[in-house]
Amino acid sequence: MPANLFSEIEYLKGVGKARGEKYRKLGIGSPYELIYHIPRAYLDFRTHVPVCQAQINEYNVLRLTVFRKLSPQRIKGGLVICKAAATDGIDDILIVVYNNVYGFQALKEGETYYMYGKVSGNFLRKEISAPVYISAQEKVLIQPVYRLTQGLSVNMIRSNMKQALELMKSEPFETLPDEIMRRYELKPLMWALENIHFPESDMASDEARRRLAFDELLKLQIGMSLMKSRSRRNTAHRMDTSVDIGSFISGLPFELTDDQKKAVNEIIADLCRSVPMNRLLQGDVGSGKTAVAAAACYFAAKNGEQSALMAPTEILANQHFRTLSGFLEPFGVNVCLLTGSMTAKKKAAVRERIAAGEIDVVVGTHAIIQKDVEYSSLGLVITDEQHRFGVAQRAALAEKGDAPHKLVMSATPIPRTLALIIYGDLDISAITQLPEGRKPVQTYAVTGKLRHRAFGFVRSRLDEGRQAYVVCPMIEDSESELFAVKSYAKNAADSDLKGYTTALLHGKMSAAEKDRTMKSFRDGEIQVLICTTVVEVGVDVPNAAVMVIENAERFGLSQLHQLRGRVGRGQFESTCILITDNTSEECVKRMKIMSSTTDGFKISEEDLKMRGPGDFFGNAQHGLPPLKIADIACNMELMNKAQSCARELLENDPDLSKPQNRALKMDVLRLFSREIIG
Ligand code: ADP
Ligand code: MG
Repeated sequence: MPANLFSEIEYLKGVGKARGEKYRKLGIGSPYELIYHIPRAYLDFRTHVPVCQAQINEYNVLRLTVFRKLSPQRIKGGLVICKAAATDGIDDILIVVYNNVYGFQALKEGETYYMYGKVSGNFLRKEISAPVYISAQEKVLIQPVYRLTQGLSVNMIRSNMKQALELMKSEPFETLPDEIMRRYELKPLMWALENIHFPESDMASDEARRRLAFDELLKLQIGMSLMKSRSRRNTAHRMDTSVDIGSFISGLPFELTDDQKKAVNEIIADLCRSVPMNRLLQGDVGSGKTAVAAAACYFAAKNGEQSALMAPTEILANQHFRTLSGFLEPFGVNVCLLTGSMTAKKKAAVRERIAAGEIDVVVGTHAIIQKDVEYSSLGLVITDEQHRFGVAQRAALAEKGDAPHKLVMSATPIPRTLALIIYGDLDISAITQLPEGRKPVQTYAVTGKLRHRAFGFVRSRLDEGRQAYVVCPMIEDSESELFAVKSYAKNAADSDLKGYTTALLHGKMSAAEKDRTMKSFRDGEIQVLICTTVVEVGVDVPNAAVMVIENAERFGLSQLHQLRGRVGRGQFESTCILITDNTSEECVKRMKIMSSTTDGFKISEEDLKMRGPGDFFGNAQHGLPPLKIADIACNMELMNKAQSCARELLENDPDLSKPQNRALKMDVLRLFSREIIG
């Protein structure tokens, strides 16, 4: 069989077993995958300078004719050093190459090259070391630079790339229908792939990138939609609309906000349908998602169905267990806790009761969806702080039990456009208001010079009976000079917090230790919790009204927002003090945004503006399939276009089975694993 795009990479000339292995290390197993190894930058050989103008100790492009190659010298350590004399027509320069005899052999006396490399030496005698070069005959003067691995050089990749592109040209294919390309002003795929590697001009590489980024965003969107419709093919336990939850709602210790009520209604409507619910409950920190989840569990229980609520950490699982028991037990709904750190004996006992159907609501970490947990009738699965779970886990969950209804809760508000992609497989309910009477957290950004004054304020609040968090980025001291909780706690106990009870909380403590500490903090036995970002997710202690964040520059906007959300959860006036000595423009801007608003949606919009959408895709937390181009090359406009294009394509051809869409579907399947959407 002649080589084609999807043959093994070894089919390419010059790729033997050794080089093949190197390629596989980079995740490249076929010419097709090689073509999608997108350059991370370009070398522009058009802008060469004469030798006399080369910047010393900098990288320069020179146009040089080699006039004498010296024979390679072996030096100590087995190193081989190769040298050649060259000229730009006026001045001479020495070319020095280490340990790359093969590359050196390719240079010919009498030939002219463009060379890019670091120039060193002085006015009289200069050398250029380990240059990347192309022949001066070469017409394409903008050359790609790739992510490499030991033993795989740019030149090797380039020559293999040219072959791979030839292979593709011999059987060109296009994933987008003509009409779509025309309307969205996109270049043909073949053109884009050639020009992303060997662009004719700067404009050409931009156009190529735009097309390929569009493709990726489109595929992502379509893949998510296919996931959604796949889960819709299942049938779920349809619950009974006539089951009343009014008495539960009115029995809560507070009146639900309008948004909470609306979310409850949307969820109950879903639960009463025969297709499984697949809903995201988005709400800012402190907006009261737990009460909404409790209402859903209540409704399921009264329908004779079990619910499972899954939290990303044991601290949170414990907290949810307490909250839900408090809300539900008075109504005869049985709640139990199941976490990894429980003894095997306890776990087994709990599992038995779950299997026997004695338990209505199971709260825990992902231990609760393991194979060994058998439910008598699992009707509803809720995952909290959902950004910690990936797309694949979401899909796996749908397979658990008999296609249960699914609710995912996220406290990371993201702008709608992004949510449509990242959560494209879900319907969305949003809680945009906070319960009444909440006072916005007063936020101040200060430099280290004001630390003692800041702690004076902290002490005054502690004296009034409040509690505080102090967050540091590190656990142990390191060379980075960032604050670490361990030494920080020691110092503070002797100075700023002398006479106050403090405790440590960080990720290296055992689950039991963490839980004990959280319990004492909640019970008011500890006044100040000195912690890392383990408190970021979901912790709810209403009496904690002060938060100090050290090295605030280390945290992104949404993370700061999450952290700050730990205070301002009760009736008390709350304060957040951000301490940083970083004066970069970006950091100052972030601090300003934090001080000026507490609205999570607004903060995420600002975050998006500052970082661009690519950063969200690059963030592994979302658990999306890895993107290669869109994470650096996309902008909001392109994203919106890809979105409307996906919608349009799926409206006309819901499972992309029409001939003109088949290539696109194949491409989507390549991005997602078949099990998820196939
Ligand atoms: P999150 O959405 O961040 O998970 P929680 O569910 O932990 O928020 O709720 C935060 C706090 O607000 C809890 O102490 C909860 O009891 C309280 N709460 C929730 N809903 C309301 C409401 N409608 N009115 C008053 N307090 C509420
Ligand atoms: Mg929560």
